[in-house]
Amino acid sequence: MADTTLMTIPGQVDPVPVARDITPREDGRVDLMGVSRTRIREIFEEAGLDGRQAKLRSKQVYHWLYHRGVTDFDAMTDIAKTMRPWLSERFVIGRPNVVEAQHSSDGTRKWLLQTDDGHDFEMVFIPDADRGTLCVSSQVGCTLNCTFCHTGTMRLVRNLTPGEIVGQVMLARDALGEWPKGVMDGLDDAEDAGHYTSDGRLLTNIVMMGMGEPLYNFDHVRDALNLVMDGDGLALSKRRITLSTSGVIPAMERCGEEIGVNLAVSLHAVTKEVRDEIVPLNKKYGLEDLLQACADYPGASNARRITFEYVMLKDKNDSDEDAHELVRLLKQFDLPAKVNLIPFNPWPGAGYECSTPERIKSFSDIVFEGGISAPVRTPRGRDIDAACGQLKTTAEKKSRAQRGREAAAAQTASQ
Ligand code: SAH
Ligand code: SF4
Repeated sequence: MADTTLMTIPGQVDPVPVARDITPREDGRVDLMGVSRTRIREIFEEAGLDGRQAKLRSKQVYHWLYHRGVTDFDAMTDIAKTMRPWLSERFVIGRPNVVEAQHSSDGTRKWLLQTDDGHDFEMVFIPDADRGTLCVSSQVGCTLNCTFCHTGTMRLVRNLTPGEIVGQVMLARDALGEWPKGVMDGLDDAEDAGHYTSDGRLLTNIVMMGMGEPLYNFDHVRDALNLVMDGDGLALSKRRITLSTSGVIPAMERCGEEIGVNLAVSLHAVTKEVRDEIVPLNKKYGLEDLLQACADYPGASNARRITFEYVMLKDKNDSDEDAHELVRLLKQFDLPAKVNLIPFNPWPGAGYECSTPERIKSFSDIVFEGGISAPVRTPRGRDIDAACGQLKTTAEKKSRAQRGREAAAAQTASQ
């Protein structure tokens, strides 16, 4: 059921009204997904456990949640059988609802997901020879309206909660069958004595490059990523996580200090005129201030470079002069930088075309000659609209009624 009560979150210039941020469960139970270990302990105490019990149980539950991927209290074999109903009467361990899962011919997988209050969002898994990257959403839609991005045209926007953000990672590991089956202290369940090693993991990297502007949902993204990085839980290194921002300068320093992940910046243009047009946030946070904030980003170094994303739009931002200016700017601010050239992914009604391969090559060569790495990103999952900037496509293409009709038709067909 869609929650239509409004709240405000920042927009391109001023805050804009968006759907409310809270999704209380109708049955009154509390979803533990996305809740920190300390908070789980407090919640257990508030529900009536004494301090010692709350400490022990929260440690066990946290381990089952984030290290083992368990969603059912009955599977928590080191918790007394009599204790488990106490937990399941009061709490749940949630996952985003899966509306549709698609598989591209190139191995990319995309999930159309839904929050409990009926908002659609998406996540994408991109397997490569040496890594597997999960592209995670931070908001339903986006308030920023970059002109080349389909997500920016979504009507409905709401911040995802920490549980809905970390829930994407959990769901991906469920789907990839990646939960360890290691032995826990005091556990004598033979089925549990598996052979998990961290080598050969499928999901190795996370990029906050799905729907939404992560720095306009800073607190939730920070809380979710801190869970992803926690050594007692999912234990993914901050070096394997990249957060992409369109340039929310005031939150960038906090991002470095409080999360400490790699930074990617959607630059896309080198002049005020063009960036104002294609990334309208530039009117609020200008190019030079943005580059200065990048130079000041805590933790950036030659070993941990900042990625500058640059979408290649025909006759808009793709000239040789643009490439030279990009090199000049990155050098002027002495930035430990790499450039990621993204061929524009078209969507119905987009007012742009992708630059020609020759143009992209020439642009890339100039940046390389300037001493800055500038690979061209290969579009992935184009056949299932999973590529950058296409993420609204299925989320809104199918109305709920249409999905209902499809489900009914599928059921009839299978009878
Ligand atoms: N909102 C954040 C992160 C999500 S978008 C940001 O803008 O940085 C991830 C990347 O895809 C961004 O660089 C974005 O500008 C780019 N992108 C958006 N639409 C695109 C499209 N149609 N083709 C190619 N890249 C696109
Ligand atoms: Fe939002 Fe990023 Fe799309 Fe711009 S490119 S509209 S900031 S999701």
